[in-house]
Amino acid sequence: MQQTYIEIVNARENNLKNVSLQIPKNKITVFTGVSGSGKSSIVFDTIAQEAGRQLNETYSSFVRTFLPRYRRPEADAIHNLSTAIVVDQKRFGGNARSTLGTATDINSLLRLLFSRFATPSIGYGNAYSFNDPSGMCPQCEGIGRTITLNIATTLDMEKSLNEGAILLPGFGPGTWQWKAYAESGFFDNDKKLKDYTKEELHQLMYADSQKVMVSYQNTEINATYEGIAVKFMRQNVKTEKDTTKAAASKLEQFTTTCTCPTCDGTRYNPTVLSSKLLGYSIYDMTAMQLDDLIATLKKLEEPMAQQLIEGIIERLQSLCDIGLGYMTLTRETPTLSGGESQRVKMVKYLSSNLTGLLYIFDEPSTGLHPHDVYRLNDLLVKLRDKGNTVLVVEHDSDVIRIADHVIDVGPAAGAGGGQIMFSGSYEELLTSDTLTAKYLKNQATIKVNPRPATTFLESEKSTLHNLKNVSLRVPLGILTAVTGVAGSGKSTLVNEVFAKQFPDAIRIDQSAVQANSRSNPSTYTGIMNAIRKVFSDVNGVEAGLFSYNSTGGCETCGGTGTIELNLSFMDKAEVVCATCQGNRYKQEVLQYTYKEKNIVDVMEMTIAEAVTFFEAKDIQRKLTTLNTVGLSYLTLGQPLNTLSGGECQRLKLAKEMTTKGNIYILDEPTTGLHMSDVATILQMLNKLVEKGNTVLVIEHNLDVIRHSDWLIDIGPTGGIGGGEILYEGPPTGIASCERSITAQYLQSDIE
Ligand code: ADP
Ligand code: ADP
Ligand code: ZN
Ligand code: ZN
Repeated sequence: MQQTYIEIVNARENNLKNVSLQIPKNKITVFTGVSGSGKSSIVFDTIAQEAGRQLNETYSSFVRTFLPRYRRPEADAIHNLSTAIVVDQKRFGGNARSTLGTATDINSLLRLLFSRFATPSIGYGNAYSFNDPSGMCPQCEGIGRTITLNIATTLDMEKSLNEGAILLPGFGPGTWQWKAYAESGFFDNDKKLKDYTKEELHQLMYADSQKVMVSYQNTEINATYEGIAVKFMRQNVKTEKDTTKAAASKLEQFTTTCTCPTCDGTRYNPTVLSSKLLGYSIYDMTAMQLDDLIATLKKLEEPMAQQLIEGIIERLQSLCDIGLGYMTLTRETPTLSGGESQRVKMVKYLSSNLTGLLYIFDEPSTGLHPHDVYRLNDLLVKLRDKGNTVLVVEHDSDVIRIADHVIDVGPAAGAGGGQIMFSGSYEELLTSDTLTAKYLKNQATIKVNPRPATTFLESEKSTLHNLKNVSLRVPLGILTAVTGVAGSGKSTLVNEVFAKQFPDAIRIDQSAVQANSRSNPSTYTGIMNAIRKVFSDVNGVEAGLFSYNSTGGCETCGGTGTIELNLSFMDKAEVVCATCQGNRYKQEVLQYTYKEKNIVDVMEMTIAEAVTFFEAKDIQRKLTTLNTVGLSYLTLGQPLNTLSGGECQRLKLAKEMTTKGNIYILDEPTTGLHMSDVATILQMLNKLVEKGNTVLVIEHNLDVIRHSDWLIDIGPTGGIGGGEILYEGPPTGIASCERSITAQYLQSDIE
């Protein structure tokens, strides 16, 4: 008989307390519980980890040296796993050449269609690709934009080369790149640029490449000389190789980006653009909203093309079904949000005919308005019905409701969690006495006494993306929620329009906090300095000893706690440092104690424990704030790169809690939060407001919407059908706004 359960025996990853579980196969199982309770530790660190490892074992040892290394998870046994596919919210990497059309392969099908049926047809499918020399615009090489170097911000005319006249990063005096100019013999290195002749300036900026000799540690080395603009363009711009956000924003101040005048941003050359089907070029089609493109393709009455068209429509339709109908195929994948990226990935798997797989989703409702959640549910059900097992970590009550099986992890976070509180059907869950059941049964209420809006900060009117010439009016000193279905224009109006016009607004997003292995909650919030001072005062030694990034660090591993093994024929591997056993400190540091605990013991305390341990006021105050944002379960020394997006966001929020007079912008602060945690985050947002700040949240969570002072609802639908402001005012007033979809979801509890 076929095994009908995945079985886990005594799992102990992170905070799990010998968790044993049976998970039904070919069903949808939703994992719930407060954040930090251990859901990810079960689903990702135990199940997905073991599935990956088992798959890895099936390869020969030779092949395995090329694959990522899988550690065996901490558990006595795990039985009956299938091949696991993790569909997470990691954004698509990719560069400016990667679009929704290229990522989903729909563009290659369209190219095939055009090469066969368009007139004039210009040959093979590749000729219709903006990533192929035969199809791309020659000026921008298929990017659609041209980027030029800004001389005014690149050079400081008041300085000489020796004084650092070249302002670009990596060109400072003494650097390798600087030497190519300073030692070229072309310039007087002490002459200020404003005194250069026209020829000298041209030589500095635009000269073609030539060889020069440069000295480096007493050796003469051949170097290439090129004008700064020529070099900069070649390195950074033409290829747009490096489109990571950090690199892009670093370059932003030195460059001007324009729509390519030759192709008008279409990326294609004139030959491609002149080839038409139904009167549209391939660019016209990729620039249509997906739902409009389907309607257009259905009009093609070409018998020979029907099969191909059906294939294209099927893929487009599944994107629409998951609520992405407002997108276009031209949309660059690096600009997709986490939730959008996850839905695009999901569609890819849905079109696969493989069965018997194990699909694992991480909060797939992120970014979805309550109105769109049913689409997600349809997709999960379809995956199951194809004969797959679906595991979902989720807080949204509408997703929990469709589960065949619910596993509730708790009771609290961190060391206070790690146990299975409930395992059974949704109906049974409702009769249980878990925290999740309590919230699922709870009747929500709307805020009755919103703070009044008095003064507003208003952005200029905008037509960016789908916006219909609207401005954002943010009431100062109160809590405002911006609402609307996915694709309605919330991020565009808030992040692209408002935040750019009021750059002093502070955005607290979910991106990682300087996510390296050397920082932790106590270094990030500054508590570590105070703790070091306590240890140094009590023991009469220098404070630096208590920092593993300073004199206190283990000399073998340099304070990282691990050693990287770099065997030439294998992947990099990390092992725990044998000298310090991974605790990062020198042995001698451990003899110094405060209240009988040494610094390593302190780093292993949770924030909740540390609050009662330390007496210094400044330490207590900061720790209490971390408690307030619901992070009491983190340890003081937990590396920040192990924190989830939601945890990072709350940590950032905690750092801001003592300031006033700021405007804060938060994007879905409830991501990763259990219904009971939402109350905590609301308290925090209100505290920020009480301290004299303005808080603006983009949010789908109905509880946050209900408890805001002011709502701004954008819609009515996504894409072209959105971009209008439907309602601005206190939450109760939205009920009378007939065009608002959000209103329908708040309606029931207003009356
Ligand atoms: P959930 O998914 O329910 O939010 P997690 O499974 O992510 O919870 O976390 C459970 C506990 O384990 C938390 O206290 C968390 O801080 C801790 N934890 C998670 N990952 C790591 C890690 N890599 N190292 C140390 N602690 C971790
Ligand atoms: P929301 O935040 O409400 O989900 P967005 O502001 O992200 O909505 O999107 C509004 C519209 O603008 C959608 O049609 C979307 O496809 C489009 N859009 C958003 N970002 C970009 C972008 N970087 N480039 C082109 N179009 C975009
Ligand atoms: Zn061009
Ligand atoms: Zn060490």
